[in-house]
Amino acid sequence: MSKGILFLLYTFTISISVLGQKNDFLTKFELTNQKETVTYEEGIAYYQMLADKFPEIKMQEMGITDSGKPLHLVLYSYDKEFDIQKNRSKRKAIFLINNAIHPGESDGVDASMMFLRDVALGKTLKKERKGTVFAIIPFYNIGGVLNRNSHTRVNQNGPVAYGFRGNARNYDLNRDFIKGDTRNAWAFWEIFNQLNPDFFLDTHVSNGADYQYAITLIATQKDKLSDHLSPLFEKEIKPFLYQQMEAYEEPMTPFVNVYGRKPDNGFNEFADWPRYSSGYAALFNTYSFMSETHMLKPYDRRVNATYQLIIAMGKSLASNKKEILESRRVADLEVMKQAEFPIKWELDAKDSTLISFKGYEGRYIESKITKQKRLYYDKSQPFERKIVYKNTYKPSLVIKKPSYYVIPQGWHSVLKRLKQNGVTMSTLKSDSTIDISKYLIKDYQTVKSPYEGHYFHYNVTMDIQNEKITFRQGDYLIPVNQVKNRYIVESLEPQAEDSFFKWNFFDMILASKESFSSYVFEELAEKVLLENPVLMREFELKKQEDEFFSKSRYVQLNWIYERSSYREKEFLRYPIFRIE
Ligand SMILES: [Zn+2]
Repeated sequence: MSKGILFLLYTFTISISVLGQKNDFLTKFELTNQKETVTYEEGIAYYQMLADKFPEIKMQEMGITDSGKPLHLVLYSYDKEFDIQKNRSKRKAIFLINNAIHPGESDGVDASMMFLRDVALGKTLKKERKGTVFAIIPFYNIGGVLNRNSHTRVNQNGPVAYGFRGNARNYDLNRDFIKGDTRNAWAFWEIFNQLNPDFFLDTHVSNGADYQYAITLIATQKDKLSDHLSPLFEKEIKPFLYQQMEAYEEPMTPFVNVYGRKPDNGFNEFADWPRYSSGYAALFNTYSFMSETHMLKPYDRRVNATYQLIIAMGKSLASNKKEILESRRVADLEVMKQAEFPIKWELDAKDSTLISFKGYEGRYIESKITKQKRLYYDKSQPFERKIVYKNTYKPSLVIKKPSYYVIPQGWHSVLKRLKQNGVTMSTLKSDSTIDISKYLIKDYQTVKSPYEGHYFHYNVTMDIQNEKITFRQGDYLIPVNQVKNRYIVESLEPQAEDSFFKWNFFDMILASKESFSSYVFEELAEKVLLENPVLMREFELKKQEDEFFSKSRYVQLNWIYERSSYREKEFLRYPIFRIE
């Protein structure tokens, strides 16, 4: 045989074996002309097959979800080392990807399968895979994935069939990260706490306005991120991701946070409060993201765009690894010492930037159904122009941290959440009288309709008072000197955006348990006033100034009751205390 024929045979054999190898691992998405996504069983079987073929891949079960099925976690480690602490000690980076939190938005499910296969085959991130552990949650909302249909993503352009947004108990899991109503969140906390990822990506598909982009990005709000992470995030990591997507000819824009109007007049950055995945992750100094592909773009393009973004993130993590690990180390040290914590934020309307935006001209035409004006995007008229983007948030409420929070042991639902999120705590060894500050709830408002299983409170105002309280042996002390400080403060300070108070964990204190009988309280009320001349003067003044008050015997007696020692101390007293 001539050298030429030998060479031809050789290349033919290679291409067959490469093709054969690739064919063995094709995903359902690839086998269906990029039109379909996997079912739960198919997805888990695929990862199991990868784990069987590649010793660098391991799949494990991480706690039961509301569906009754376990949450799976798939790990890729080039060294075949799956102990996270050992990987940490080798200075490996960790990249966690969460999929199917909204199972109708399945792009990341299919992209992650192809991604992990291609990493294992060395087809992508061949160099980068050596220094990073990839961790993939194939399906987070398993109950929703099992609830498969072809119509609930009403305006979405594929796949053929997909899961439903609500979980097995109809929770939206992307509102559940701090309050943890679901077992899915409990299993996630365990994963997150164990991995402590450097990068976190939660994959989605967006609704809202139309524009040219197939993919948009929610990067966790920069001002809520630690000062030790933000500069690297803003100057290196985010610009690189946008550049890479441009290079892949799939340009990306910040999440178009616009509903029911055209984006031409600009938009504001999405505020990812801790109830959302990326906002939760940011509490632990993780660089976090949500990808949002656009519902009207074809499924194949969306999945491939998500795949490219994952690769871009893998590259960014690898090329900035030293700085990323170091910035997180410093941020962790600083948060332990940090004395003040912003707990509420507002958009800084004055601070804006111009971004180049590729949109479609939109106009209002008459609706055939309602005869009203409706928004219509004209795809024959694409444009690119500068629009205003407001992405600065400033703290609107900052609190001084206490040295400790004291949590009486009966509040086990709160304690459970803190423990599951890795918060360190101790118990009182004996009954102890302690100088504390307590919050008295002055006012709050409540939404009129249930929201995610709750009647969420807002506009919370409080008084703070000092008192000596005797706590019992076994009550809990939470030191506010730990890496988890932000989770502690944001969950326990009643006024924080997503506090446990706002999420109804303490509604029992919002109604009094005891009361007085007005026909016999009269004599006691008189005694209360006689013994307290200041209160008596206040009472007389109120009678003069407040006509309603002066005319109601019950209201007057109640006013005295509320200011007397007869009133229960528990009413409106926030039951978690601060040691300053
Ligand atoms: Zn979503």
